[in-house]
Amino acid sequence: MTETVAGPHPLAPEWLRPLTDSAALEDKLFPADAHRDDQGRLVLGGVDVETLAAQHGTPLYVISEDDFRSRARAFVEAFSEAFAPETDVDVFYAGKAFLSTHAARWAAEEGLCVDTASGGELAVALAAEVEPARIGLHGNNKSDAEIVRALKAGIGRIIADSLDELARIDQLARSAGVTAPVMLRLTPGVHASTHEYIATAHEDQKFGLSLTPSSDADTDQENPYAGSPAWSAVEHALAAEHIELRGLHCHIGSQIFEPEGFEVAAAKLIGLLGRVRARHGVELPELDLGGGHGIAYTEADSPRHPRQIAQALAGAVRTACDARGSRCHGSPSSRAGRSSVLPG
Ligand SMILES: *Cc1c(COP(=O)(O)O)cnc(C)c1O
Repeated sequence: MTETVAGPHPLAPEWLRPLTDSAALEDKLFPADAHRDDQGRLVLGGVDVETLAAQHGTPLYVISEDDFRSRARAFVEAFSEAFAPETDVDVFYAGKAFLSTHAARWAAEEGLCVDTASGGELAVALAAEVEPARIGLHGNNKSDAEIVRALKAGIGRIIADSLDELARIDQLARSAGVTAPVMLRLTPGVHASTHEYIATAHEDQKFGLSLTPSSDADTDQENPYAGSPAWSAVEHALAAEHIELRGLHCHIGSQIFEPEGFEVAAAKLIGLLGRVRARHGVELPELDLGGGHGIAYTEADSPRHPRQIAQALAGAVRTACDARGSRCHGSPSSRAGRSSVLPG
């Protein structure tokens, strides 16, 4: 079944080499249980692909449940270990990596929470009977209907993206007679070392609330964040009757291989948590350091083991807490981002 490989595609980047042997199973790119049977057929999750194609037709997405579960477990174990004993940690499976009721159920059964970014994804997670408290709803353009659905289902965290959205969440929660659990999405101005198109925490992009004071804001010697959209959002959220502000969230990008961006993000958000405590006497319990941990899309990518990622993040959080004299406890959560729990 070995095929000869044509020359480089004219649109392929230079580092992307044509496969020398397309029949070889590159470890990084295939589920751990992928192998060839004695007739040379690719076997995934114990079933050869000829049988799968005959059963389901092609094209066909095939996901190995064992592989999915073991990757999910590896993230949960690595983060629980790295943050123990002082900090509870939740790891979120990003629904956009792949979401079906089966995938959502596997993720939940392995101890992951589930991130959704639309009414459709939320409906899938709920249909899979993921505990609502373990679902998060993201998005920079949530409709009222999506917010109401999330509130009525009792989901654990709505990640508010703007001041306008925060006001709508408060109003919709009031009408529904509930209190909305909210995280604020902030843009710490980090340039994650990933492709610029998938870096999401620089100032000038479509998500979140900036930490930079607006140019006409009064300066405040004690609070470098005063006059920033992020600070206004914190104050609005604390004052809003139908919002329970759980904490601060950031998402610095997708396909991230190096942890330095998280160190900067953790330092800034923990700095802001300290200012909130100093000014309002409120200790927000949660910090969410989001970003898509890099996976291997090609042979050229070298993903890190979840343990390395978890230890780097835990180290960044401890360093930032020590620097501020903050207590490092509560329940920071970390999102296992796009595809990080799935094979490429
Ligand atoms: C993936 C992701 C993004 C980036 O979304 P695009 O629509 O690809 O720009 C932003 N925020 C979160 C929480 C994400 O998971």
